Amino acid sequence: MTVRVRYAPSPTGFLHIGNARTALFNYLFAKKYGGDFIVRIENTDIERNVENGEISQLEHLKWLGIDYDESIDKVNPKYAPYRQLERLDLYRKYADILLEKGLAYKCYCTEEELEKEREGFSHYSRRCLKASTDELKELEKRGEYTIRFKVPENVTYEFNDMVKGKVSFSSDDIGDWVIIKRNGIPTYNFAVVVDDHLMEITHVLRGEEHITNTPKQMGIYDALDWEVPVFGHMTLIVKENGKKLSKRDPDIIAFISQYKELGYLPEALFNFISLLGWSPTGEEEILSKDEIIEMFDEKRLSKSPATFDKNKLTYINNRYIKALPLEKMVALCKTHIEKHEVLKHQSNEWIEKLVSLFHDRMSYGAEIIDLYHDFFEKEFMIDNEELDFIKQDGVKTTLEVWKTKLQSLSDFNADNIKNAIKQTGKETKAKGKMLFMPCRIATTAQMHGPDLPKVIELLGKEVVIKRLEKTIEILAA
Ligand code: GLU
Repeated sequence: MTVRVRYAPSPTGFLHIGNARTALFNYLFAKKYGGDFIVRIENTDIERNVENGEISQLEHLKWLGIDYDESIDKVNPKYAPYRQLERLDLYRKYADILLEKGLAYKCYCTEEELEKEREGFSHYSRRCLKASTDELKELEKRGEYTIRFKVPENVTYEFNDMVKGKVSFSSDDIGDWVIIKRNGIPTYNFAVVVDDHLMEITHVLRGEEHITNTPKQMGIYDALDWEVPVFGHMTLIVKENGKKLSKRDPDIIAFISQYKELGYLPEALFNFISLLGWSPTGEEEILSKDEIIEMFDEKRLSKSPATFDKNKLTYINNRYIKALPLEKMVALCKTHIEKHEVLKHQSNEWIEKLVSLFHDRMSYGAEIIDLYHDFFEKEFMIDNEELDFIKQDGVKTTLEVWKTKLQSLSDFNADNIKNAIKQTGKETKAKGKMLFMPCRIATTAQMHGPDLPKVIELLGKEVVIKRLEKTIEILAA
């Protein structure tokens, strides 16, 4: 048996972390077992479909490296089409079979009637099923109808979930549900079964919000005498405070397009997402796609919610960024630099120096703009903690000596700047932290930062002298 799994997005939105995780685990499962990974577009919710939703889903899957074997742009004629709205005849065909077998029936009730019913009962009353021949004749005159599945009584739907273990539901908790709507479009629970069966899906791995749909779907499999696939329901992704991850959360980047725009590396994101609800056996969490495929084990899918750990996101991305050659890193930052009013006018050489300065501490391309801002653009202001440090004895003299040395440099490069610091130390007898920290604070207003002579070179003589003068003035006051 060839393993065949699918990711079935509704193009009602763009690819977000939750979707991507579902797609990624299906992909890993398929690749682990040498199977096929299919992307099927579940677009039956016409009103909620968004423009470009479909494209966004596929493009961003590709960007992440989740390469599918079949979809709307990679057709296997045996299973096509891959958009549900192009498969309406198929759904109708199987709905008709169910009607013929007496396992489904037409329901002529209007929305208002159903609304009224719902006030008293949780399940549909089966009015149209129980109607006498005469009553039915009257009802049929209404013309419009839905098709309802006649849910069998007293059946236990039990399955061995790949993630959660044994799960069971009683059919008595399910009312007769609509499989084909008035407009001829199937509902999700019906279409998904027809498609999964016809596309020969062997394992259905999806989010746990679908677990209560499973008994409904199993009812259809039984009614059509089809083999039930293996189900697996992955736990929710939650924030560090335990709350469910939301697409609208301001402190979490939800959409893959945003990561792409911000200059995250797809390989790093792939790695990060693979750890959302799955864990490798060893300690090492920085793993390539091939390593993850090799190590993937569905038995290690977590039974408790997966936490979206922002520090881990930063850490993993930083590890990948650090390993990137400088020219690739520059390319990653370039799109952001080109949009920046000042930076876009800098020479390539200067930009390269800037990027190399911060390379090791970055997690994504756009971060270069924030770092540039902190060190180069922000108004030069020394906060209390830093001020206390430079108010120590001797610092003012050290800075004055250093300023003179810097002023006299004809070539304002990192080596000469470094040398000027050294000479200052010799002359003033300032050493170690008492030498370097004042130099750093007096030019960057910060206690920490990248290689100081290099920052100073990039800041440029004029700015550095001005900052030094301002600091000396503060100390003289
Ligand atoms: N279209 C459904 C969704 O987006 C797919 C559910 C499933 O995988 O069965 O949630």
